Amino acid sequence: MAAENLAVSRETFDNVILPVYAPAQFVPVKGKGSRVWDQQGKEYIDFSGGIAVTALGHCHPALVETLKSQGETLWHTSNVFTNEPALRLASKLIAATFAERVFFGNSGAEANEAAFKLARYYACKKHSPFKSKIIAFHNAFHGRTLFTVSVGGQPKYSDGFGPKPADIVHVPFNDLAAVKAVIDDHTCAIVVEPIQGEGGVMPATPEFMQGLRELCDQHNALLVLDEVQSGMGRSGKLFAYEHYGIRPDIITSAKALGGGFPVSAMLTTHEIASVMAPGVHGTTYGGNPLACAIAETALDIINTPEVLNGVDARREQFVTALQKINEQFDVFSEIRGKGLLLGAVLNAQHASKARDILNASAAEGLMVLTAGSDVIRFVPSLVIEPTDIAEGMARFARAIGKVLN
Ligand SMILES: *Cc1c(COP(=O)(O)O)cnc(C)c1O
Repeated sequence: MAAENLAVSRETFDNVILPVYAPAQFVPVKGKGSRVWDQQGKEYIDFSGGIAVTALGHCHPALVETLKSQGETLWHTSNVFTNEPALRLASKLIAATFAERVFFGNSGAEANEAAFKLARYYACKKHSPFKSKIIAFHNAFHGRTLFTVSVGGQPKYSDGFGPKPADIVHVPFNDLAAVKAVIDDHTCAIVVEPIQGEGGVMPATPEFMQGLRELCDQHNALLVLDEVQSGMGRSGKLFAYEHYGIRPDIITSAKALGGGFPVSAMLTTHEIASVMAPGVHGTTYGGNPLACAIAETALDIINTPEVLNGVDARREQFVTALQKINEQFDVFSEIRGKGLLLGAVLNAQHASKARDILNASAAEGLMVLTAGSDVIRFVPSLVIEPTDIAEGMARFARAIGKVLN
């Protein structure tokens, strides 16, 4: 095969890839469970989970089996024809959630794009074309299409790409009074992550989420929850909204939905979905049989008491180990998040060292993430072995020691 004759390395990246990423200095070539190996054969423990994607670890045997069997059966039909895996996956997502209708896409941004378009379209059809205001939050992250970076609350991701979509208002997260001050009858939706991921691993408070639900009801606005990172078992429940005792109008899922295969979903009610009609929205690959078969297997495994109940025990092990590291090094001001979406916040003395700690961790054989300049983020496999957590944390302690000394 020609592809195997061409030698590539980390240096190749700088010569062939659009410079929008700054990947680590090693190139992973193989993964199994929560272990990864690079081109030189060096082994890593993976606490990064491909950014909260590989929720069942690398190359989970059941996912590999589905990839192979569906791969030998039917990959793609387009939405001119429906298919069995998509119909089964949608039925199972509906059975497991508040939802009654599903739209499939290929990425988190696409699911959110569909959600925001649906919210505007629903308001336009049911109320008025002037009911277009979207309320979103500082530090929110919703993806990289122009609409989703505009709803996202980090101007550095949207500046320079204007003109931006209009009528989007940003207010501080977890600040109900700030939402009250801007919501009105021209608001079509509030868009929020139940746990802000990229923005620093920050959970919404129960009062905030319940307050948003009430404000939406008062103003006939839709509550849109971006569960791209917080969903699919990450928080210890299938979707994080279940922690808050509220019923959303729309949620989006991606990342762990396919366990590593690209697929996303937007879930909503029959009533809201009913404003849509053939041709109003769509995507070529969305709901393709290969992606949906893999996601169905991932859902079958994740949506079990065994996996969901295992999340909190693993979180405990992480938190205990991080507290021990903190006793030794006095480096964190707070460990926060929910379930296996964990953030270790660097204290003022060590703020902005997150990237150095990520690099030092890699040198010790550990993959971690950052969330901003002062938060180390851990989003490992939901079924990571306790021995891998222990060994990974030993490596993390060594990395912290090197950065601080
Ligand atoms: C990752 C992420 C997205 C974007 O998903 P992509 O698959 O990269 O488009 C959107 N929202 C949240 C909360 C995310 O964490």
